[in-house]
Amino acid sequence: MARGRTKKGLAPYRSRRDLGKTPEPSEEGTRPKLAKAGSPLFVIQQHRARTEHYDFRLEVEGVLRSWALPKGPSTDPAEKRLAVATEDHPVDYADFEGSIPEDEYGGGTVIVWDAGPYRNLSTDDNDGDLPLSEALERGQAEVWLEGTKVRGGYALVHSKMRGDEKNWLMVKMKDDEADARRNPVSTEPESVLSGRTIEEVAEKASGEEKGG
Ligand code: MN
Repeated sequence: MARGRTKKGLAPYRSRRDLGKTPEPSEEGTRPKLAKAGSPLFVIQQHRARTEHYDFRLEVEGVLRSWALPKGPSTDPAEKRLAVATEDHPVDYADFEGSIPEDEYGGGTVIVWDAGPYRNLSTDDNDGDLPLSEALERGQAEVWLEGTKVRGGYALVHSKMRGDEKNWLMVKMKDDEADARRNPVSTEPESVLSGRTIEEVAEKASGEEKGG
């Protein structure tokens, strides 16, 4: 059991979507505009679906490994945030912003809330470098995020205690970027791609449906 990842790769992503009906990307194509040459990327997409959440995605070995954060990320090391493993997404998905029809899988509105390059900080028991895919397989990974809103070290820890293989915790590590007073989820709502809030993107989509 791969820590909540029942199958590897993009087959679950494709099987859940009617790609003729959703504006989401179908296959690997060009690298997202927001990717920086030479570095893997991370993205956090705000997703207003039946329940609002933030999708945290890390580019690992050609796909976006993904977790849904019900409360979004915290900049406070004392706050452990639930991160529920979800299916791998195509790397192209990182700059997807728009509205998915309500009756389709994941229906609702998505904005690129934060994104940037990241570095893998994960180490093995002897403090040697550990590939991120291996660290995730072991259930304990550390990454350094260089976003606009979210920066510094974050730990992803697989949580066996909650009785669900899909549950992880995402925790800010103690470093110069840690700040218990910041709360970017509430104070910095705009997309880093378009400057729009999720309300603005949702309103534009419903206006287009009405022909306006
Ligand atoms: Mn989502």
